[in-house]
Amino acid sequence: MAKIACYSVKAYSTTAPASALGATTIERRQPTPTDVQIQIQYCGVCHSDLHFARNEWGFTQYPAVPGHEIVGKVTAVGSGVKKFQVGDTVGVGCLVDSCRTCPSCRSGLEQFCDLGLAGGTYGGMEKHLGTPTLGGYSQSIVVTEDFVLRMPANLNLAAAAPLLCAGITTYSPLRHWKVGPGHKVGIVGLGGLGHMGVKFAKAFGAHVVLFTTSPSKVADARRVGADEVVVSTDAAQMAAQAGSFDFILDAVSAAHDINAYMNLLKRDGNLVLVGAPEKPLPVAAFPLLMRRRSLSGSLIGGLPETQEMLDFCGQHNITCDIEMIKMDEINGAYERMLKSDVKYRFVIDMASLK
Ligand SMILES: [Zn+2]
Ligand SMILES: [Zn+2]
Repeated sequence: MAKIACYSVKAYSTTAPASALGATTIERRQPTPTDVQIQIQYCGVCHSDLHFARNEWGFTQYPAVPGHEIVGKVTAVGSGVKKFQVGDTVGVGCLVDSCRTCPSCRSGLEQFCDLGLAGGTYGGMEKHLGTPTLGGYSQSIVVTEDFVLRMPANLNLAAAAPLLCAGITTYSPLRHWKVGPGHKVGIVGLGGLGHMGVKFAKAFGAHVVLFTTSPSKVADARRVGADEVVVSTDAAQMAAQAGSFDFILDAVSAAHDINAYMNLLKRDGNLVLVGAPEKPLPVAAFPLLMRRRSLSGSLIGGLPETQEMLDFCGQHNITCDIEMIKMDEINGAYERMLKSDVKYRFVIDMASLK
């Protein structure tokens, strides 16, 4: 492999599953002719960051730098870059590359690339350097222009950062299954994903019902746009919703009873998982058989759809509800995230990384 020039940037990394994140210095490649160099202004904190930092999926290589909800300013472009200029405000999500040739990549569905997670923003392969990719908890990143997104100018940039993962993760299945006016849509869980699911389903014209285990979240669910709120631990409230939903987006990443939600679907209704509980979820056959119901999954979105989502958010003034933190507050933020004690996404002000 030809030696490629690098530069040093400050970052936050962890070196072992049980270690806290701390300040470090990492190497980024100098922009190649097709690369965009970005000064990172804000980076959202996704639950995946925590899974990855602690090697809970088993593929983490250390030192690890999480972060895949990245927004910032272009500081340099390669000689062949056509779409971006120095000074542009841009975003980078969960992907920084893909094979470009498999059927999914050719269809603009890079999230389903045959190479799997090789193009991941962290935990993937930095093919220029032959090292693992390092994410957005850093001052600067270099990304091939095809995986750089344009941020709408009218949105608060910090509050727009989580659109790059939480936003597209909920937007894509609602679009794929054509949720719209006349549909009754359930969103399970009011967290980083769920609150965006409510906002998008509402913007698409559906009647939106939010399911939560916490009576304390009822008022907030209405504030973010839910038409109805059901406390899922209340059997009578659940029974009253039986057989009435066209579509349910399940954004819960902890163990829970999905059969209770399957029973709420109409004939041919579909429940889509976007959360990823650690253990398999038991699925009873009868709720599926009785009304020809479907159980599906969905993973982020491809580059064309992610840009479409960002443009939609610009047009409809949709952003995430965030709590801004400084870089050195990240370890405490992880502990609060584990307790769902965040409304509804932490975003790191990267100017605090000095
Ligand atoms: Zn994420
Ligand atoms: Zn591919």
